[in-house]
Amino acid sequence: MQFVDLAAQQKRIKENIDTRIAKVLKHGKYILGPENKEVEEKLAAYVGSKYALACSSGTDALVLALMAYGIGPGDAILTTPFTFIATAEAASLLGATPVFVDIDSKTFNVDPIKLGETIAAFKGHNKGVALPANHASLTLKGIIAVDLFGLCADYNSISKIAERENFFLIEDAAQSMGGEYKGKKACSLGDISCTSFFPAKPLGCYGDGGMCFTDDKDKLDLMFSASTHGTGKSQYDNVIIGMNGRFDTIQAAILLAKLDIFEEEIELRQKVATMYSRLLAGIRSLTIPYVPEGYKSAWAQYSILAESNEQRSKILGALQEKGIPSAVYYPKPLNRQVAFGPLGYKLGDFPVSEDCSDRIFSLPMHPYLTESEQRIIVDVIRINS
Ligand SMILES: *Cc1c(COP(=O)(O)O)cnc(C)c1O
Repeated sequence: MQFVDLAAQQKRIKENIDTRIAKVLKHGKYILGPENKEVEEKLAAYVGSKYALACSSGTDALVLALMAYGIGPGDAILTTPFTFIATAEAASLLGATPVFVDIDSKTFNVDPIKLGETIAAFKGHNKGVALPANHASLTLKGIIAVDLFGLCADYNSISKIAERENFFLIEDAAQSMGGEYKGKKACSLGDISCTSFFPAKPLGCYGDGGMCFTDDKDKLDLMFSASTHGTGKSQYDNVIIGMNGRFDTIQAAILLAKLDIFEEEIELRQKVATMYSRLLAGIRSLTIPYVPEGYKSAWAQYSILAESNEQRSKILGALQEKGIPSAVYYPKPLNRQVAFGPLGYKLGDFPVSEDCSDRIFSLPMHPYLTESEQRIIVDVIRINS
């Protein structure tokens, strides 16, 4: 059994992939080739965003978005500690400081009420809220909301706060391509939205890749420039400090082949998730994923809360014994990571994230998981919970 079965997917589209790669080998435009433009246009249309820029990874997509806002030392970016390190790392790489805000225990996404409380604390109006050690020397500039496990954050509430405070809002949609929020697609919910094409994400290529989406042409131009060494009018006219953040043409060709079946795969993911939730519903000690009204998850992960750390260990051990893969996303919230030690956060600063890290686990999740595989998985969980 596979945690993510990319081989089953490849079997369906192998011919299309071969044809598209052969086309790239023939035209030879390996960097910024015509496939890049095609995949940008198709995905911008798909998510309902005016512009898209393909780039080297989801991490770089976040860095490019922050660069478009000129983020650097002295700037602070609000985000959640219950995410992949890249979300906060992007801010730190530019010399800025991530400011963590705890999550909602049901959605695992940033809690808008706590977001407001942290902003108030920054202004000195709210003691008893955890802030980074150097907060007095920082200026809050924006928010990176994360759509964890494929479920969109609460954008109505978050964008209201962003507007009120004059902050930019970046959507970390690395896990949510294909998801929806109140009639809008994930990847269209921030001023800039960033996704990842890492192979195991809902829409993945066969290497690293990412994309930034925006309706703002100036931001698009800035991100393109930053992704090509700060180019100005021509390749050797460099107007800002940028990086090599381009997307390979061959990877764009692979994505185009995967796009043909993506909508169908998103529907298959709904079916798999619904089946899991039905099979698991009778196990009262477990908390199954919650999808609020008007949301559609891309189901990057199907994640469950055990009732305790001990129960999780028992379940994961039993699954392993039966050769069933599982994973823990994330075993440590970012405030507990050594790399973020200088921020000075303590254990207990983000109780919901810390509690979820102790109890959460994820089951195999991909469009080609069969009902009989799911029954085997759930049976092992049932007798061990
Ligand atoms: C995967 C991921 C990223 C980073 O994407 P890469 O393409 O691996 O650089 C960023 N944020 C979140 C939430 C992710 O899951």
